[in-house]
Amino acid sequence: MNQVDISVVIPVYNEAENISELYDRLLASITPISPRYELIFIDDGSTDNSLNMLKDLRHKDKNISILKFTRNFGQQSAVLAGFKHCKGKIIVQLDADLQNPPEEIPKLILKLNEGYDIVSGIRKNRQDFFPRKICSSILAFLISKLMGKNIRLYISSFRVMRRSVIEKINQCKDKSKFLSALVSWMGVSSAHVEVDHSKRLHGETKYSIGKLFQLAMDLITGFSRFPLRIVTYLGFFGASLGFLLMIFLLFQRYVRGVMYDGLTVLTALFSLFAGVQLLSIGILGEYIGRIYSQVQDRPDYVIEEIIEDQPDFVIDDILK
Ligand code: UDP
Ligand code: MG
Repeated sequence: MNQVDISVVIPVYNEAENISELYDRLLASITPISPRYELIFIDDGSTDNSLNMLKDLRHKDKNISILKFTRNFGQQSAVLAGFKHCKGKIIVQLDADLQNPPEEIPKLILKLNEGYDIVSGIRKNRQDFFPRKICSSILAFLISKLMGKNIRLYISSFRVMRRSVIEKINQCKDKSKFLSALVSWMGVSSAHVEVDHSKRLHGETKYSIGKLFQLAMDLITGFSRFPLRIVTYLGFFGASLGFLLMIFLLFQRYVRGVMYDGLTVLTALFSLFAGVQLLSIGILGEYIGRIYSQVQDRPDYVIEEIIEDQPDFVIDDILK
């Protein structure tokens, strides 16, 4: 087997307009580091011309492998498939849309060389829609607090890792692997480097508000059980309040002889608790949903086709 120094894992979902520029810039930035590289593109169910463009590139460059998914399984799954497949000593995760400039890869690798296991690129001038930036920061702050340790979680999709980290990630049986949180949780030695961030040149973000909300819920329930504790607190609070109210009404009725019209108070309280109960059921549901998909144990993704170099012979042919 050919030795590979650098593997670059790139999830692709309808990025046809970005692919050729990505390839040129990527190559210019990694070949000076090592000519023994591989580029793994995961076609996550693209409906545009992405797959054909990738195939064309592969005719030029046999260091390219393409994993074609049967449908869109999401960025995380695509990246994980790339991790399972890669052979390099150093693995780079990069978006296909050129928001993370490939020219920054050497900077990350230099930092890795200082002895870290993983180095993430932190966008110093994040070029995204303003409300999204705010929401990401709040989420990152919240989850790093919820994770118990005072880890500052940087959410990034641009990082370089040593093979040892990839092997640890590949062993995780967790269904949803939010990589930024997972590596913080693993506690491998990590560092951050500030990198440039560009506006998306072509196409649009693949994340709608709904998808981002789903991702946020997944992150929170995947790394914290605090919301479940909130349910317990709310239940405790509600029960205590109800009990006190009952004492109060009994006291009014039998000690002070006041026929207190508690109906208004009760109606208000009931609607409050109806809300609290629905919220609680919702939170429980999120966790049960996680257990459900974990128990189903379906694969994270389904690969339709792998386009890569085949060995010149197959061992079965020789053994025949
Ligand atoms: N992506 C993917 N599957 C998806 C959504 C996104 O493979 O379902 C890829 C996308 O092609 C890009 C990367 O993940 O290479 C990041 O996506 P995007 O730029 O839309 O995310 P953002 O930069 O807005 O966070
Ligand atoms: Mg992007």
